[in-house]
Amino acid sequence: MRYGVVVCPKCGRARGVETVRKTVTCQCGRVIKVGRMKLLYPTDSPLDLADIVGKVNASLKGGEPMPKARRKRKADSYTAIYEKARGIKDPLERIRAVVSELTKLKPVFDLEDVSRLAAIVGEESSEVFLSKLMASGVVYEVAPGKFKAA
Ligand SMILES: [Zn+2]
Repeated sequence: MRYGVVVCPKCGRARGVETVRKTVTCQCGRVIKVGRMKLLYPTDSPLDLADIVGKVNASLKGGEPMPKARRKRKADSYTAIYEKARGIKDPLERIRAVVSELTKLKPVFDLEDVSRLAAIVGEESSEVFLSKLMASGVVYEVAPGKFKAA
């Protein structure tokens, strides 16, 4: 097996290691001697390794639910929206662009989507952002907590 997971004895974070390496440095600065650690989840696939490290860290942090494949794709879509929004200087234009990109993914979106868009355009408060969206006529509420682009 080419890869495995070790848990840092200092900070308790999991990280992936190549089994051929003698030492690996944790994010916290601790140098971990790979040969002396118990290697968890041995695998030959670097993709599996990244996945396992994420899951182990999530469960170490306090049993967060495992991310589903669907959520992962969704995050990628938001990255695309961000990339698009980044090039637009005018705030209203940017808002329109992110809303129209979101609408391609989801014709009707909810408050969680609004807060993600708020983060993308750099609004600190999703409530303020939502009121701007409504006030500028970019979106309207179709049902409580459900929104559509106008
Ligand atoms: Zn550490």
